Amino acid sequence: MDWTGKRVLVTGAGKGIGRATAVMLAQRGASVVALTRNPDDLQSLQQEMKCEPICMDLANLDRIGEEVASALPVDMLVNCAGTTILQSFISSTVEDFTHVLNVNTVAPMVLAQVIVRDWLSRGLKGAIVNVSSDAARRGLANHTAYCSSKAALDAITRVMAVELGSAGIRVNSVNPTVTLTPMGELAWSDPLKADPVKARIPLERFLSPNEVAEAILFLLSDEASMVTGISLPVDGGLAVS
Ligand code: NDP
Repeated sequence: MDWTGKRVLVTGAGKGIGRATAVMLAQRGASVVALTRNPDDLQSLQQEMKCEPICMDLANLDRIGEEVASALPVDMLVNCAGTTILQSFISSTVEDFTHVLNVNTVAPMVLAQVIVRDWLSRGLKGAIVNVSSDAARRGLANHTAYCSSKAALDAITRVMAVELGSAGIRVNSVNPTVTLTPMGELAWSDPLKADPVKARIPLERFLSPNEVAEAILFLLSDEASMVTGISLPVDGGLAVS
């Protein structure tokens, strides 16, 4: 895939998987619109690579259309920003559940609507990758909202693929297992916690952010021109073990 001239909007580009994706795209010649909520992250990203920054909190659903309007048109979208609040099922509150769903599921849907409307009005094709999770198909303790949000994101991905295929718009998700972003390193540095999980992964290790980014770029690219509606496990074989 020649990324030259391709314009890609990446959310969650300040850290972790989103940042790795933004940097990889820029290194391969794409022009990147980087969206995140922390201005310091955007500044450090701009020192690392050329990008067009959008600083916003995606929880402000009503502002999404307005904030991204000046960045349109883009050729592709990566919905990567995500969050979680750990709570047992019994103590989950409507407020926290709604917040996680808004950031992980509703914001990607609203942003995709803005971009797809623009593509349809201009007669353009496009590709979208939603960053979901292995958690979409699991029942992880203390992750009621997170598991729900990612399962719903996979469902939206399938519906979008079906509805938008005739317009030449492809929509897929990637579903990573534990990825060693700075937050992942912190959460999984204790071997007592990490080793039993790694033991269930046929490739016997966790992921680097770049390994998820490679899968995202593949699904965005013309090499995946007949791939749409899938949730791609990027998990060292965990899904089949
Ligand atoms: P990080 O926390 O490292 O990075 C997430 C980025 O998204 C940060 O820049 C963060 O900004 C930004 N972000 C979060 N909430 C918002 C918001 N409301 N508005 C705008 N930007 C926001 O996460 P990861 O890279 O680990 O995760 C990226 C995606 O991958 C998420 O969707 C996550 O669910 C998914 N994933 C991660 C896995 C892992 O093990 N790391 C495994 C499976 C899936 P800020 O720092 O200011 O919060």
